[in-house]
Amino acid sequence: MNILFIENVWLGGAKYGLFDKKILTAFSILPTLYTRQLAAITPKSHNVTVCNERYNNIPYNQAFDIVNINYTTSTAPHAYEIAENFKKKGIAVVLSGLHASAVPDEAMKHADSVLLGRGEMNWLTLLNDFENKNLKKLYQPAPYTEKFSIPPTNIKLPGFVINGAIEATRGCPYKCTFCPEANIPGGHQYYERPVADVIKEIRSLPQKIFNFYDNSLTINPKYTKELFKKMSGIKKKFSCNGNANVLANDNELVKLSKKAGCVSWLIGFESTSQKTIDSVGKTTNTIDEYEQAVQNIHENGMVVVGDFMFGFDNDTKDVFDNTLKTIQKLEIDVCDFCILTPFPGTPIFKQLEDQNRILTKDWSKYTLKNVVFQPKQMTKDELIIGVRKIYKTFYSNSYNIKRIARSLKLGIYPFFLVLERNLSSKMSVRYL
Ligand code: SF4
Repeated sequence: MNILFIENVWLGGAKYGLFDKKILTAFSILPTLYTRQLAAITPKSHNVTVCNERYNNIPYNQAFDIVNINYTTSTAPHAYEIAENFKKKGIAVVLSGLHASAVPDEAMKHADSVLLGRGEMNWLTLLNDFENKNLKKLYQPAPYTEKFSIPPTNIKLPGFVINGAIEATRGCPYKCTFCPEANIPGGHQYYERPVADVIKEIRSLPQKIFNFYDNSLTINPKYTKELFKKMSGIKKKFSCNGNANVLANDNELVKLSKKAGCVSWLIGFESTSQKTIDSVGKTTNTIDEYEQAVQNIHENGMVVVGDFMFGFDNDTKDVFDNTLKTIQKLEIDVCDFCILTPFPGTPIFKQLEDQNRILTKDWSKYTLKNVVFQPKQMTKDELIIGVRKIYKTFYSNSYNIKRIARSLKLGIYPFFLVLERNLSSKMSVRYL
């Protein structure tokens, strides 16, 4: 069979120019992994094509038997348009990914079949059913079994991509109420790949720099320490995600990460108010531990990337200034500032819908940069203006220069990472 996978990248509604597409995104946007994992387990007897719209046009004129389109919430309308175009040609369409898993009824209107969850457990069954003319409308995620293994995905990437991507673990058991990944069917199931498999894949990655796509590499410190110990000597550099509680209290893990080649830890701080953190069930975050987490990472010569979100029910207009002050005090090197976005399938979406506070279900607006619900303690405009202001202030020239100069103390790789992230974020200001 001829199978086409279409990857959907998180570009929101932004129109990227040629420079951004070819240069900026090559440094700052990473290859997607999910589609490539499905492509990697597809039997070699089939012809597989992976299309990523960042580099390729959709090959509407080629003959395919089946198309699998993977998409997120903000790209859902575009994914449905692509799906309809293939359906008109009589080609079977499978929809998959976070949004399809969160609202399968909606996805089913545009597809012959919907693959829920991360999909590897069912993709081969789906293909088999399709070949036997018995394709089902819906494939539920199955629990991970002993036999399950995440395949290596080192297929050649199109375009100019300097960052590789890999997954050592899968899922997150914490289920914060706003998190789309942990709240899709099967998303909270936690799975660890055998360390030897991960090491083998890291060695075979063509890139010298890569990202762990794991939700968090601090869920099971014992596993992560074993992985980091085996990685030392590989001579590759990487970035990864972790939670504040472990990074503040487990200095052994932080030290091992540095020896393994870690350049940066991304922490979802979300808020500097404990009341807010508690209200969204982020049990890994205690505000009083933020400073220690940042200090441990810096003392070991690595960069701290902080994610912050605004628009929670406890947030008032002064949240932006207060957050900026804390960020500056903590000396966080790179930040992302998002607007709380109630993704379908999450408890926060249900809560806001029950309270009649969802303002739009135009999914293309669900980019984390728009206000799609009625905030409680400020107006919609105050929220959006506040986020833009903190973003612009944080990435203003004077602060950028200070942070870039400060990062020199961390070493050459951290310096280049801080330089690149601060400059690319500054360029992205125009898309706000
Ligand atoms: S800890 Fe992170 S990945 Fe896990 S549920 Fe919370 S936000 Fe999601």
